[in-house]
Amino acid sequence: MSNKDFPVIVIGAGVSGISVGITFLALGFPVTIYTKEKPQNNPANPLFSSLYPAASIIPHTVFHPRLNEIFRASNSFFAQLHKKRFPGLSLHHHFELFGFHEPIPEYTKWMDNFEEFDASYSLSHPSHPSIQTQCGWMFNCYFADWSIYFPALLNLFLKLGGEIVTQEIKTRELTDFNAEVIINCAEIFAPQLIGEPFSPVIYKGHLLTVRDIPAPKDKLGRILSYNFTPGTEIYSSDNGLAMDVYAYPRSTDFVLGGSRLKGTLDNSGNWIPIDDISDTQIIAGETVPTQILELNRNILSESFGIELSKYPKIYSKAGYRYMGNGEESLRIDSKEVGSKTVINNFGHGGAGVTLGWGCAFEVLNLFCSLTGKPVFEQNQVLKAIPGY
Ligand SMILES: Cc1cc2nc3c(=O)[nH]c(=O)nc-3n(C[C@H](O)[C@H](O)[C@H](O)COP(=O)(O)OP(=O)(O)OC[C@H]3O[C@@H](n4cnc5c(N)ncnc54)[C@H](O)[C@@H]3O)c2cc1C
Repeated sequence: MSNKDFPVIVIGAGVSGISVGITFLALGFPVTIYTKEKPQNNPANPLFSSLYPAASIIPHTVFHPRLNEIFRASNSFFAQLHKKRFPGLSLHHHFELFGFHEPIPEYTKWMDNFEEFDASYSLSHPSHPSIQTQCGWMFNCYFADWSIYFPALLNLFLKLGGEIVTQEIKTRELTDFNAEVIINCAEIFAPQLIGEPFSPVIYKGHLLTVRDIPAPKDKLGRILSYNFTPGTEIYSSDNGLAMDVYAYPRSTDFVLGGSRLKGTLDNSGNWIPIDDISDTQIIAGETVPTQILELNRNILSESFGIELSKYPKIYSKAGYRYMGNGEESLRIDSKEVGSKTVINNFGHGGAGVTLGWGCAFEVLNLFCSLTGKPVFEQNQVLKAIPGY
């Protein structure tokens, strides 16, 4: 049977479902995505994670035994897309800085221009006026300007012939599909779809968006961004978990974060905190950790002369990072549900964009081994994506 006679069904139209859909379309499979909610023009819904990413291409807050390999494949695909000038992708010179000593994570091996930070670094770098940076590193890193990248991804899916149907799918309906294999990218609701208990581990995250603010650049003209973890005595959750703040410039605005507050959801999808934060203030209608504004305000003023008070168009929101069902782990595997084989792709935590392509390739590999289809080359997928 040729690929064009082999329909593929994907459940979920977030970044995972659409990236998976594109990879299958690129190899000639007809793809239909079923989604509970429309991926565009959607009002705030913290249960639909793809309305929220900041979106750095860094594997923060996600766990999987093969995380490094998945990230490496994803990051190299982002590099190819960037070469093709895919809309909304930019390359920043990014700093990860700490007010205490921290080991260097393994993923940094694959980041271009990696350098360990030291205070004598001759180009402009982010620093807080009164909290000393004890350690850190910097590298070149891709960022997705979400209001541009996500619609472009969706358009590419449709342009390649993909179909999107807005319909909630129940477990018993999986057997009705005219497809041997179904791909489960329903994220928070993915376990329920395959008949497993609902026990989500969620890290709630807050984002501020500041409009019309210029991006900080260094003397070489590179766009700068940072994550800064000052130490628990300055910024932590009520349970004492160290938090970081970040500033990610985009084409017309800045994303300021962040927080990672552990919790779960009840059966109606209501937030139940396990960890919380007491030092908050209301910004643009949302209760937000005070330090997101305070630490970023000081760093931006001290390092780049950017005074946040001059930019009054500020918006806030809080979304959920889904870490896994019962335990914190990304899940890519297959399961028999009724007469169908379901390939799972869920639990992306704080890195669903970062790992979007890497997870799609893992799904494709699993699909090929389950169906006896020949192993594919990433280049075949790349070739189907136009230059921009
Ligand atoms: C504050 C915050 C900051 C973040 N920052 C970053 C970042 O910097 N970098 C990064 O890589 N990631 C980041 N993330 C994480 C990222 O947003 C998510 O990992 C990613 O969006 C997950 O996408 P997804 O497609 O797997 O799931 P979702 O976007 O949640 O999509 C799930 C889809 O499944 C559908 N669905 C569910 N159940 C059913 C059903 N029964 N039938 C039909 N459809 C169904 C939904 O309608 C939806 O279309 C951040 C997240 C938050 C909250």
